[in-house]
Amino acid sequence: MAQNRKKVLVLGAGYAGLQTVTKLQKQISADEAEITLINKNDYHYEATWLHEASAGTISYEDLLYPVKSVINEDKVNFVKAEVTKIDRNAKKVETDAGIFDFDILVVGLGFESETFGIKGMKDHAFQIENVLTSRNLARHIEDKFANYAASKEKDDRDLAILVGGAGFTGIEFLGELTDRIPELCNKYGVDQSKVKITCVEAAPKMLPMFSDDLVNHAVNYLENKGVEFKIATPIVACNENGFVVKVNDEEQQLEANTSVWAAGVRGSQLMEASFDGVKRGRIVNEQDLTIAGHDDIFVIGDCAAFIPAGEERPLPTTAQIAMQQGEHVAKNIKHILEGQPTQEFDYVDRGTVCSLGSNDGVGIVYGRDIIGKKAAFMKKVIDTRAVFKLGGIGLAFKKGKF
Ligand code: FAD
Repeated sequence: MAQNRKKVLVLGAGYAGLQTVTKLQKQISADEAEITLINKNDYHYEATWLHEASAGTISYEDLLYPVKSVINEDKVNFVKAEVTKIDRNAKKVETDAGIFDFDILVVGLGFESETFGIKGMKDHAFQIENVLTSRNLARHIEDKFANYAASKEKDDRDLAILVGGAGFTGIEFLGELTDRIPELCNKYGVDQSKVKITCVEAAPKMLPMFSDDLVNHAVNYLENKGVEFKIATPIVACNENGFVVKVNDEEQQLEANTSVWAAGVRGSQLMEASFDGVKRGRIVNEQDLTIAGHDDIFVIGDCAAFIPAGEERPLPTTAQIAMQQGEHVAKNIKHILEGQPTQEFDYVDRGTVCSLGSNDGVGIVYGRDIIGKKAAFMKKVIDTRAVFKLGGIGLAFKKGKF
């Protein structure tokens, strides 16, 4: 091994970090750099499928696969550890498994739920945040149905589910619920007309990234399946009985034994503690995806607020962007190792599809609106493609959606 191998440290094995590593391991020899990937679990999970595991339409186990199954251990050292501190100036990262120094750092620590300080929301609502939160939510929903079926004194709140937020995650979760509820009613002998699913949204418009036609399709589809929407209705608190909402300046209690917060995410809390100028866990990048003052630190995925040249607003936080950034950072690291200048990141927007359960959806693909079964099919293509991009054809066969 060459003595002067650069130490490349990648934090997070989500879409951004894992794509960086899987691309980089193909581009460099073991002599060129010492690559270490740190992740708090020994698995990668498909965060874009969390709404499915949360509703119980797939098992939480379907979301994940071992990180080691997609890395080349001759070139990459994988460490299961939780990052606790990034010291950018000393070029050291502290974890619960020791301290790691670096020449080049890639931060891909992803997203966390953001409740915007709404009283009780963290304590009383389920979050759609990671494998564990999704597993717990799906189990809780089923437990409530089982409890309703088994108890003599029926509590209708066991069959009531409140969902905060009619953005992408909220709508996808509602779509899965409308698939799951008939199964649960069947399993526990519950009259489906007693189930009450209510979605509460503070903004006047749902799914703001889509045209009115697409939004109307999503709303009609979900309403026909029994979902009630309360739009332009702010949630002011969450307690053990459900959400407290404001209607005409008056507070009202919406009752349910399951409350779900699906209305906000932020980048990792570690971002504020580690870097200057971070807002909601996101930092504005340079055009090559490094950060100001540190040409050896890349921040990508949901911890990044990348503003394309000539534009004013950062790109949204999506897996599609996280993966493209990971791929780009792998190339830039190769350039640095070869003493070449880094290149600017250029995002290619292929579109967005929002599922409505497994058989319907709405989306924009290469600038064109798609609706219904076509959208549902396209969503499965996108989901399978993401698995393929990280793990190749073998993993796509095992974990893909066809
Ligand atoms: P993550 O996927 O969050 O990965 C971060 C990784 O870092 C994780 O493995 C985590 O365990 C690890 N980590 C975090 N903190 C630490 C620590 N301190 N120490 C060690 N490891 C740590 N995007 C789309 O493009 N299309 C979609 O259809 C879509 N649907 C979505 C549906 C839902 C329900 C949700 C919640 C999100 C959806 N998204 C979608 C958004 C997408 O999931 C995120 O943008 C994407 O996951 C960001 O990738 P990332 O690699 O930055 O972070």
